[in-house]
Amino acid sequence: MPSPLQQEELMNDKSVITGKTRIYGILGCPVTHSLSPVMQNAALHEAAVDAIYVPFCVEPDQLSAALSGLRALGVCGFNVTIPHKTVIMPLLDKLAPSAVQAGAVNTVVNQGGQLIGHNTDGDGLVRSLVKDLNCDVGGSKVVLVGAGGAARGALVALCRAGVKSVVVLNRTVAVAEGLIGSFRSSFPQIMLHGTALDGQSGQLVSDADLLINATSLGMAGEKIDGLTLALLPDHAKVYDMVYNPPLTPLLLDARNRGLQAANGLGMLVAQGELAFSLWHGIAPANDIMQKALSAFFNAAKA
Ligand code: NAP
Repeated sequence: MPSPLQQEELMNDKSVITGKTRIYGILGCPVTHSLSPVMQNAALHEAAVDAIYVPFCVEPDQLSAALSGLRALGVCGFNVTIPHKTVIMPLLDKLAPSAVQAGAVNTVVNQGGQLIGHNTDGDGLVRSLVKDLNCDVGGSKVVLVGAGGAARGALVALCRAGVKSVVVLNRTVAVAEGLIGSFRSSFPQIMLHGTALDGQSGQLVSDADLLINATSLGMAGEKIDGLTLALLPDHAKVYDMVYNPPLTPLLLDARNRGLQAANGLGMLVAQGELAFSLWHGIAPANDIMQKALSAFFNAAKA
């Protein structure tokens, strides 16, 4: 039995889980692939915050019950991933403007029992563009490939960051048009255009400063049919939101063309850093999340 002094020391050791430890987590289904526990726990440890971040696998028909449970247990905050990012919105008490505009929630803060939904994905992308590609999107002409949830978050953040124009290319053209249509009135000064991702796409990319892949293509090594980088200007930069595998066919094409390119790992890290700040009121230590992921990948390779 530890002495009272030893007990006191243990209670104050932030790496030991005690009765005071706060709980955070991620809700998804599946959730086993998520790297958020790796990077969030590393940042908590580094900042000596007495908290832990755990995965919660929640089936879609259990989401409402899970939220009641998280409220009752006083879980302080959580991330939200596939397939709950949109369906969770009406189940929360309040939505921050970032979530309303993106039409999706990836971060929830429990503020005195009120669950507040935020979205840090789009701002995470913009941060990663600056950090990983030295790309300030203000005044840029952007081609955004894909029109799903990630593309919507990206579009909000790009428009708020002051891009000049965005062309959305999508396999299902009606989805691209719908996405663009829902943004026109909010950003009348930005040229927005939605069209099909097909053999004609080449001309549309010919004056782009930045091309972003927001489709799931590349995760299984697929090329993006209908997209060629041959007509991109030499100064153009390419960003692939996919980060696993780290070198997708799109990034390989960009590299072969001599274009500056980056995968989505920086976006994953940046959205996590922004969520950390929302929960704990402090920024995580510089690069701690990135380092934790690199160490994780290296250990997995060994
Ligand atoms: P989503 O809502 O399901 O959207 C998928 C998009 O991919 C749609 O535009 C869809 O087009 C397109 N697509 C799927 N299969 C296709 C195919 N065979 N050919 C052409 N287009 C196809 O998914 P999401 O949540 O937006 O996620 C998209 C990607 O972003 C995923 O790879 C995800 O991992 C990544 N992501 C990364 C981060 C990060 O932090 N790096 C964050 C969020 C998402 P249709 O409309 O025609 O179906």
